[in-house]
Amino acid sequence: MTTSLYIHIPFCAAKCNYCSFNSYAGLEGLQGRYIDSLCAELGQCTSGGYMGPLRTVFLGGGTPSVLSAALLKNLLASCFACFPVHPDAEISIEANPGTVDRAKFELLKTAGVNRISFGVQSFNDQELGKIGRIHSAEEAAQAVNMAKEAGFDNLSIDLMYGLPGQDPKSWQISLETALSLDLNHLSLYQLTVEEQTPLERMVQDGRLQLPVEDELAAMDEITAKLTAKNGLAQYEISNYARSGYQCRHNITYWENRDYFGVGAGAVSCLRGSRKRNIVAPEEYCDAIESGSSTVIDEETLDLEASFRETVIMALRMNRGVAVKQLEKRYKIRLENHYGKVLQQLIKDKLLEQSEDYLYLTDRGRVFANRVMADLV
Ligand code: SF4
Repeated sequence: MTTSLYIHIPFCAAKCNYCSFNSYAGLEGLQGRYIDSLCAELGQCTSGGYMGPLRTVFLGGGTPSVLSAALLKNLLASCFACFPVHPDAEISIEANPGTVDRAKFELLKTAGVNRISFGVQSFNDQELGKIGRIHSAEEAAQAVNMAKEAGFDNLSIDLMYGLPGQDPKSWQISLETALSLDLNHLSLYQLTVEEQTPLERMVQDGRLQLPVEDELAAMDEITAKLTAKNGLAQYEISNYARSGYQCRHNITYWENRDYFGVGAGAVSCLRGSRKRNIVAPEEYCDAIESGSSTVIDEETLDLEASFRETVIMALRMNRGVAVKQLEKRYKIRLENHYGKVLQQLIKDKLLEQSEDYLYLTDRGRVFANRVMADLV
């Protein structure tokens, strides 16, 4: 029985030039219909005995905060009417600083949301312009402060390093600005140039320059130094938090536990089967309205594939793989499965094993891709 729910909101005020998520600008006219469809899909999830009392709910996207207060209210009310919610549940929403105001934060608070993750990406206006963000650095700081005034203390900011035109100094300033907001959680990602995005074309034809490897390494050092100095412990490759503020919903993914996803393109992972919904928002609404299936893809992982996936995902977390739990869950011994490959990674000081956990060493985190490739 799963206790984690993901709700996908595919709308954005504008499409950022690096983005390859299932998100769309210019679909404002579809929002009301889409929320009705989501509410209908939530109603369908109540049958089948899959869902227990919710411990984590995550409204992601896209930009959930682009929805009007009325639509957000409907959606959250419908969700909580469909499922019992654990009193200690983490209810998260992703927000874009250009799409929020005081009234929306107050509504979210009243509706039961208790965690906000802001997509900020940079506190440098030139960098924000180059990646097509709709907000300024100042608007981002104002949005965070407004959320605090509305009573939220579980707040996170996403920042990206490796942006076009960024150097270690400007990364340091962005990070220091984020830290000065005194938040309990930060997500710090390296920019990935995704295929077929406007950013890829601009980098390929030389209109935008990305930082070189030495600069990226210097940014990594700045990150390690400043997060530690400010009491934010790394708990996953890209995530840092004060004690008790780790994102519980994302930990569900990294532990490869079951979750239910609703909305266009949303993935559900239930009892060893993974299903994906229709990706295009309008087609998703058509399917819900006509009573046909929203599922376009379904796969069942065999036990060993699922075992390996669980190992890889858990190694993203600093604490690593809970070995006894893993072996009990799959009835497969880690050493038997990986044999010499595992011994070599330990010998190369890329992995370390304590009595309970197998985890990446500091050196292993630098070469994480190589370790994962060996274990996949
Ligand atoms: S706001 Fe987020 S989801 Fe929307 S286009 Fe930008 S990066 Fe993509």
